[in-house]
Amino acid sequence: MSYEPIIKGNVKEFSVKPNLLNYEEARESFSWDDIYKELDGLEGGGLNIAYEAIDRHAKTSLREKVALYWEGKDGNSEQYTFRDLYILTNRFANVLQSLGIKKGDRVFTYTDRTPEIFVAILGTLKAGAVVGPLFSAFGPDAVKDRLQDSGARVLITTPGLVTTVHEIAGELPALEKIIIVNRRKTSYELSENEVSYERLMESASEEFEIVKTEKEDKAIMHYTSGTTGKPKGAVHVHQAVMGHYATAKYVLDLHPDDIYFCTADPGWVTGTSYGIFGPWSNGISQVVYEGGFSASHWYSVIEKYQVTVWYTAPTAIRMLMKAGEKVIGKYNLKSLRYMCSVGEPLNPEAVVWSVEAFGLPFHDNWWQTETGCIQIANYPLQDIRPGSMGRPFPGVTAAILDEDCKHELPPGEEGNLALKSGWPSMFRIYWNKKELYDSKFINGWYITGDRARKDEDGYFWFVGRADDVINTAGHLVGPFEVESALIEHPAVAEAGVIGIPDKLAMEVIKAFISLKDGYEVSDELVMEIKRFARKKLHAVACPKEIEILDSLPKTRSGKIMRRLLKARELGLSEGDTSTLED
Ligand code: AMP
Repeated sequence: MSYEPIIKGNVKEFSVKPNLLNYEEARESFSWDDIYKELDGLEGGGLNIAYEAIDRHAKTSLREKVALYWEGKDGNSEQYTFRDLYILTNRFANVLQSLGIKKGDRVFTYTDRTPEIFVAILGTLKAGAVVGPLFSAFGPDAVKDRLQDSGARVLITTPGLVTTVHEIAGELPALEKIIIVNRRKTSYELSENEVSYERLMESASEEFEIVKTEKEDKAIMHYTSGTTGKPKGAVHVHQAVMGHYATAKYVLDLHPDDIYFCTADPGWVTGTSYGIFGPWSNGISQVVYEGGFSASHWYSVIEKYQVTVWYTAPTAIRMLMKAGEKVIGKYNLKSLRYMCSVGEPLNPEAVVWSVEAFGLPFHDNWWQTETGCIQIANYPLQDIRPGSMGRPFPGVTAAILDEDCKHELPPGEEGNLALKSGWPSMFRIYWNKKELYDSKFINGWYITGDRARKDEDGYFWFVGRADDVINTAGHLVGPFEVESALIEHPAVAEAGVIGIPDKLAMEVIKAFISLKDGYEVSDELVMEIKRFARKKLHAVACPKEIEILDSLPKTRSGKIMRRLLKARELGLSEGDTSTLED
């Protein structure tokens, strides 16, 4: 299939803003200082993300504007104005203080996508603590690794999820209190260190003076996977809100009367940067759907709330393509005016399809947990090159560097995608991992770990990861995490994990294992190991396929050669095998 090289961007009068009409001019005139001036700041100095997202609107005529339209998965719905969220987040900050939480303490959430997660995240920021959102599909090991590493003192969870925490409770010495959110009023008896969210919120005051935080105070941490070791906590500071605010405005093109729909869960960075901070710091109404992917539910949400701006991910778009246009025909989606995508390469077919199916293209953009906000994008008023991630956001400098990350490569050449360090929402540390953090910076460049190239006009094209990290349905999975979980099974002697291409999810996880003596190869054993891994990890990190080998290829020093497993699996050249053990 061949593509028109350029699809005209979605130019509507409503979208016209002088500063992105001309990309080059926008780059020249952009300044982060100007963005900072558009925020309020705390009275008497300081900056706090929650204040910018909620409180400042609660003090203006926006106070009665709906901030959150929440659509439950069982068909019920709720609405919260900026004033409602102001009061609820004040109450929650008071709850945390009553539990002894102080500035800099870590407070984690592990809940479903219900309104309480938004209250808890923003209330934690008001209390000056560092919030760590966990995805509700995480299994015990994934939860344990993150709570242990961060030393979280308080966890907010639900009766349904707390059983996972009970399994690991003895291994979390820093965890003092668990707040149980029981919105569906299931019968649940609180244990000794557990308290009821509803009860504490009821008696908490609705007045709260935000704990004074400065631009560089730590605010939020998201764990992300690398090639080796456990996931690491990328920490962002309060001035990250400058990036959330500016990119939500200029890349997601949010305008005051928009109704915005972000499909990402707050357990991942897109769900906080663009499912909370970006839209709300701009005073925008947003819809949150509690359930996961469902073409018909998503379309009905768009129709019901007259969604105008939609931000989703390539795997979901490919699943929508698979669901077909017939289902689109059942809904009135005319309210949509602008659509964006992030998380994995957006294949050109998907951009072309979206124009046919919705009359609008998806605008791809690129960023990472570490970058905190969008760095490279296709903008509303610019032509889209299907298959390209777009051009750097004004205020961001991106380059393709050579193998040593010392010199920039000319257009057309593939190399390491790097960003000039120093933008406001750049991560400031990996929690407890200074050396690893420092290793990501060379000569003032942050090395992203992605391979890419740039064309003559400055558009960036994604090539792949520079390491073994697997991107499955937009979620990064470190092979080491999966291998560690697999070898805990009594039958597994060794494990090597790779990503293999998949039409929908881009990559799925395949594990190669060898068995300990005394175990026989069987379908039942494979199923049992899969179930075991699913319980320890989380749905997205579980191997779709497990193949049992007599032994795995290793280097002379005993390291499993994932590269070789992959080459053999895909029928590619095995490359240099000089370090392979005999
Ligand atoms: P995460 O830190 O989990 O958000 O994952 C970030 C990684 O996802 C990036 O380093 C890329 O490898 C990939 N990614 C994100 N957005 C895009 C995109 N638009 N095109 C290609 N890859 C992307």
